[in-house]
Amino acid sequence: MSDRASVLLIYTGGTIGMWADPRTGTLRPMDLGLLEEQVPELARINVRLGTVAFERPIDSSDMRPADWVRIARIIGDNYSTYDGFVVLHGSDTMAYTASALSFLLEGLAKPVVLTGSQLPIGTIRTDAKENLITAIEIAAAKDEQGRAMVPEVAVYFEYRLMRGNRTVKVHAERFEAFRSPNWPTLAEAGVHLRYDRAAILPHRAGPLKVHDRLDDRIAVIRLFPGIRADWMRHALAQPGLRAAVLTTFGSGNGPTDPEFVAALREARDRGMLLINVTQCVGGRVEQGRYATSQAFVDMGVVGGADITVEAAVAKTMFLLAHTQGTEELVQRMEAPIAGEFTLG
Ligand code: ASP
Repeated sequence: MSDRASVLLIYTGGTIGMWADPRTGTLRPMDLGLLEEQVPELARINVRLGTVAFERPIDSSDMRPADWVRIARIIGDNYSTYDGFVVLHGSDTMAYTASALSFLLEGLAKPVVLTGSQLPIGTIRTDAKENLITAIEIAAAKDEQGRAMVPEVAVYFEYRLMRGNRTVKVHAERFEAFRSPNWPTLAEAGVHLRYDRAAILPHRAGPLKVHDRLDDRIAVIRLFPGIRADWMRHALAQPGLRAAVLTTFGSGNGPTDPEFVAALREARDRGMLLINVTQCVGGRVEQGRYATSQAFVDMGVVGGADITVEAAVAKTMFLLAHTQGTEELVQRMEAPIAGEFTLG
């Protein structure tokens, strides 16, 4: 029996495994075999690697909640066989998938590291190889007691490991595409891999439970100066809509126009969940700090604190499918599940 750590590589698509269609120059996903051919270094890593791929790798803009569940199930089905998991994923919606996995994988005690790249793996200046190889190393890393070094869902990109549900994609071109504005980096990769143990979630006891239900009847509505009350009323009246993430100004503020406030209040009175998340990249929502957020407090809008929009979307979909009634829903929204926000 080998005492080498084992890591399962789950390939879903994304630029990392794309090739340029010679006819059009458009980037399209290639299959896992070709991807492995491009990284002969994989054979030299001191980790037992397993691989599994989506039968049709996708650009992450095509990821849907059903795909998040699919990835969670792959992890669940292979949980006892591997020490860690690396999910190769397009960067565009990686922060959403990482957030969703952090809620779907209850009791996770092993690393799930999502990574990808800005340039395809076959290109000379690619960032893919370093991202892939270091992500595998992190997924295999153990502490002095032989436990997983990072027992949580994380994103590794350009020398930084970040909590998955704290990440946002901040750049469309730079290799340094991700940030975790409201939570410290979990590890930095230089000559050595330096882990910030205080920032990493503590080990959780108990078995893994893979959840497989999400409710996508939600909307994300970004406020802007001049947003019309009648438009807001119409948007919130869509049949079936159960929750809306409102992205607000600064520390959670919005227009005080009575018509606008009434449109939100009517939705709340119908039992709709409203969540207040700031449009700012960093910092937190503090409802009631300014008069321009008092109406949110009065009507029972959930203050999102320092949660990202990505994590708010995934958490809302998760909780809508896992709670009975508005009261329980609001209570569970206001408590962190997997370190996705900091209590004030
Ligand atoms: N469009 C690509 C995707 O998200 C971009 C990337 O992988 O970086 O799949």
